Amino acid sequence: MRIEFNGSRDYVTSEIKKLMTDVELIFSKNYIEIKNFDKGYVYNFLPKIENIRGVIRVLMKNDELLPLCYSFKATENINKNIPIIIAGPCVIYSWDDFLETAKELEQLNVYALRTPLFKPRSSPYGWDGYGKEGISRLKEIKKSIRTPFIMEIIDYRLIDSVSEVCDIIQIGARNMRNYALLKEAAKSNKAVLLKREPRSNFREFLYSAEYLLKYSCRNIILCERGDNLSDDVASIDTRMIKKIKKETDIPVIADVSHSAKRRDRVMSFVKKTIKYSDGIMIETSINPDASPIDTKQIVDIDEFKKILKIIR
Ligand code: PEP
Ligand code: MN
Repeated sequence: MRIEFNGSRDYVTSEIKKLMTDVELIFSKNYIEIKNFDKGYVYNFLPKIENIRGVIRVLMKNDELLPLCYSFKATENINKNIPIIIAGPCVIYSWDDFLETAKELEQLNVYALRTPLFKPRSSPYGWDGYGKEGISRLKEIKKSIRTPFIMEIIDYRLIDSVSEVCDIIQIGARNMRNYALLKEAAKSNKAVLLKREPRSNFREFLYSAEYLLKYSCRNIILCERGDNLSDDVASIDTRMIKKIKKETDIPVIADVSHSAKRRDRVMSFVKKTIKYSDGIMIETSINPDASPIDTKQIVDIDEFKKILKIIR
């Protein structure tokens, strides 16, 4: 933590010492560097330091703001030794199509299967999935499928019922900053996949991951899903993926479907991201055109197999 000041150094130093004990202070002409402070408690004294007469600003490094993200070691993994390829429909809309898709993807040894029952829709007129009623049917299907299930949760009150059937909880882009949901998802003991909200920056994204870690989630995957610049403009932030990989040990994958927005672009998005990421999320179905949501971007099993060849 660097404290830039233009007033009296002695005064600023004595005020800092009143607020923080047992820290190491390193002095320069216009700033004081503070080392060995308890990062978890920095917010208890940060506003007070900013208020010291003569302090211009306080600069914090990423590893000081995000101590749990930066010390995270990926040791737990729900599906060991295979690349993180998460595939399946955008939404479950037909149990027959879902089961057939699930069987195909299981044959192809994917890391986890998308099983969406709750869809956050931008328009209030859009169909939003089978919802809670679908859980019992999904439980039946789970008996015949070994691949772990992943499902987005949009309301923390659903966590218990969804946890009965899912191995990974997905926090969707819209809910990246839903801190009540993050806390409850973290406490569920499930693995959590967290998507980046469009246009949020590195720190904002990792603050949400920090929530998960603080509230005891031990198995976390981050997912870059691009920025919604306009309806047909496709984008994915490969620099974000690279930065997360460089600075932390948290697994990070690329959602090549919601970023590419069109199935003919998905392959190129895989090529663009797979050299940096730990895997992909990809909407896949035996019958993409039957999907009531995101129809244009879902790939069929043949295309998925071609994509697998590039990755594996
Ligand atoms: C999804 O993956 O089903 C989804 C809704 O994506 P996002 O949260 O990235 O919009
Ligand atoms: Mn979708």
